[in-house]
Amino acid sequence: MQYTGKVLEHFMKPRNVGVIPHADGVGTIGSEDCGDMIRVWIKVVNEHLVDIKYKVFGCPAAIACCSMMTELAIGKHVDEAWDLTDDQVAETLGGLPAHKYHCSNLAASALHKAIMNYIFKYPNKTDTISITTLIDDIPSENLRSEHGLSLLINYGGKRILFDTGQSDLLLRNAKMLDIDFANIDAIVISHGHYDHTGGLYDVLNIASKAKIYLHPAATEPKFSKKVSGAKSIGISDSAKKAIQGRDVIWTTTPAQLFPGIKVTGQVPRMNDYEDVGGAFFLDENCRKPDELLDDQTLYIESAKGLIVVFGCAHSGVVNTLDYIGKSTGQNKIYAVIGGMHLLNASKIRIANTIEAFKKYEVQKVVPLHCTGQGAVENFKNAFGDKCISLETGNQICF
Ligand SMILES: [Zn+2]
Ligand SMILES: [Zn+2]
Repeated sequence: MQYTGKVLEHFMKPRNVGVIPHADGVGTIGSEDCGDMIRVWIKVVNEHLVDIKYKVFGCPAAIACCSMMTELAIGKHVDEAWDLTDDQVAETLGGLPAHKYHCSNLAASALHKAIMNYIFKYPNKTDTISITTLIDDIPSENLRSEHGLSLLINYGGKRILFDTGQSDLLLRNAKMLDIDFANIDAIVISHGHYDHTGGLYDVLNIASKAKIYLHPAATEPKFSKKVSGAKSIGISDSAKKAIQGRDVIWTTTPAQLFPGIKVTGQVPRMNDYEDVGGAFFLDENCRKPDELLDDQTLYIESAKGLIVVFGCAHSGVVNTLDYIGKSTGQNKIYAVIGGMHLLNASKIRIANTIEAFKKYEVQKVVPLHCTGQGAVENFKNAFGDKCISLETGNQICF
């Protein structure tokens, strides 16, 4: 297939090429396979994209896509521009040669990155609540992953880091996304396991003003029982040291981070079909079971309804939702996102989890990290496109 007339026209006379000095958001995207590279700058006034400029290194299709993207997005509200997809850009150009879809059609993705950067830089200029996966088990084309979880939440002008993955990879991923941890207002640790606390030491070095929310039991030694023996899976000594002298809120009970955003603290275990999800112990001899009392969940009271953010949900997804429902007096939950630790879950547990989502009329189910492929398939069957998959570096807005 040849280029359409529209592609050639935008290639010959590309609109809005250039740079915006002191831009409100900048996003870069590149395709390693083909070497195409796009950088987008945006200017935002009253949550509207009043200007978009770009530089592109690539073939005629890449240039035409950037040009068309600016035509489609300039003047739009940030939320509306966020919904623009690479496919829509290509369609408006009358299509692209098949082999160009993959590497040259990245203009809308680059715009997303610039909008993400804007939301991060000026969280109080937008009503949008955004959650970005800095670390998840699923990699993306541009970002590496590891077994673990770290989410960046922008809400009501505040930046909250929820968990820190298992290494300093979240710092490298944040850098790729133009996110500066010096601006973090609060850090929530869902529980003490290494795959949620491993990056804490490095983050605390940068996030100097952040308050830390964690349960005291998160700092206890923790082990998992393997065939080969006990494996230490708790928080590192360096992270424990780094917490000392910092502004720590010990969350045995619920705590409010900022108006409208809270953590549950310890979650009561009420039902008989949810357990901690593995052979977890407090001692190296694996005699004292770890009930993961430190496991806590964050929730946001948004205009659309409650948004619930799990770390691993070792307390049980249903126990947690019931506790949040009771604490807030709400019988509906808009969205659930995070690790749900249903890898080894019984059929009954998965069925009851789905029932609970239905009971609370959950509109968005976003399983991450340790949820387990089997459970995810069940969620997809039960909720169709209300069940959303994310990769490392993706962002979901509410
Ligand atoms: Zn865990
Ligand atoms: Zn985990």
